[in-house]
Amino acid sequence: MADPRPLTGEPLPLDLLNTAWVEDGGPRDLLAEDGGVATWLASRGLAAPADGRARAALVEAREALRALLTAPVDLAARERVNAVLARGAERVRLGPDGPVREVDVAETWRVPWQAATELVALRERHGDRIRRCANPECVLWFLDVSRPGTRRWCSMAACGNREKARRHATAA
Ligand SMILES: [Zn+2]
Repeated sequence: MADPRPLTGEPLPLDLLNTAWVEDGGPRDLLAEDGGVATWLASRGLAAPADGRARAALVEAREALRALLTAPVDLAARERVNAVLARGAERVRLGPDGPVREVDVAETWRVPWQAATELVALRERHGDRIRRCANPECVLWFLDVSRPGTRRWCSMAACGNREKARRHATAA
């Protein structure tokens, strides 16, 4: 199956969030579809299990990350992400060519753990650039890498123009 999502290519944690989107006015969830987990993993170039347990782990991580980004000061949201983070641990040691990082994590949790870990790093470095699309009906997330930091939409074509048209209609 080709990746059917409207927005791809965001950093891993946001890309995981973007496995859920709105299509024709209703929610669509790639992870809930037949072959959807495998499609998403292939789209990311990740070799990982795509069975029911992997799906459940990915969904658990996705909803924890969404809860945290939606309510960053909420203790329960933080604890949900901490529960995902607790699934794995990274060990660093020095090898002949520099640091070697080994992750201790069950195969099923490797990608969900990685997504949670990367979200922590992303918030630390670029917390003010993690955005949800400004269209209130859109649930997509992106990292604003524009120089002025003024990106508001998942895409101009999908949401930006619609908002412009709406404002135009209100003004008329
Ligand atoms: Zn959007």
